[in-house]
Amino acid sequence: MERQVAAPARTSAAEQLAELIGRSSSTVALTGAGISVPSGIPDFRTPGEGIWSNVDPFEVASIDAFRRDPQRFWQFYRPRFSMLGDKRPNPAHVALATLERRGLLAAVVTQNIDRLHRAAGTRELIEVHGSIATSSCITCGRSYGLDEVEALFDGRGIAVCDICPGLVKPDVVLFGEMLPVAAIERARQLAAGAELMICIGSSLEVFPAAGLPELTLANGGDVAIVTKGPTPCDREASVKLDGDVAEELLAVLAALG
Ligand code: ZN
Repeated sequence: MERQVAAPARTSAAEQLAELIGRSSSTVALTGAGISVPSGIPDFRTPGEGIWSNVDPFEVASIDAFRRDPQRFWQFYRPRFSMLGDKRPNPAHVALATLERRGLLAAVVTQNIDRLHRAAGTRELIEVHGSIATSSCITCGRSYGLDEVEALFDGRGIAVCDICPGLVKPDVVLFGEMLPVAAIERARQLAAGAELMICIGSSLEVFPAAGLPELTLANGGDVAIVTKGPTPCDREASVKLDGDVAEELLAVLAALG
């Protein structure tokens, strides 16, 4: 007679990640465009979607374009500013802020400029591509908050400083611009020192995000991936969650208890 043997309970990927988080004494999250998709911000690499579908970003959103033709730059960037300014954090952003508050997450390194991690309550935040939170005069350095920029546009639709004739530029890294050295250095230190790096909503193809999981692995840490679609790090990852980022992170929080 055949005896029914109960199959061992399969641990879900969310449970596996929760276990890794529980074991790690230093966990860092690296986030990309995918974490903001549930907030209604399309990933510009998704073909046919979003504000980048009809323009060449290198043509309009580069530092050269900004210097050469600020009117055209702002024609493109101004609606983007107001679109991003209205967006709110989603449960994935909130889940990371919750992990930090519970002492389970040391920092968030993000490629996003949408300031939604800050809005969700993340305190240790490294924005390697800058943020739309502020814009600065490229001549005198005067800084303006997101809400103040709209008042700076002249009749040509160019944002001009109110204390000098200088142009005002968003404090985001435009194509062709140097990445902020201090932020990159901090991100590399965090990655190298992490026992666990959780890569969320990033295709891990764009520098500097591409190199950070490798630093964690090279120093003996684990890498976890919470991203739809393949990434170059999938093979080396200890666990991969490829569902909706918000649902996956909520499942991880639930598994942590
Ligand atoms: Zn100025």
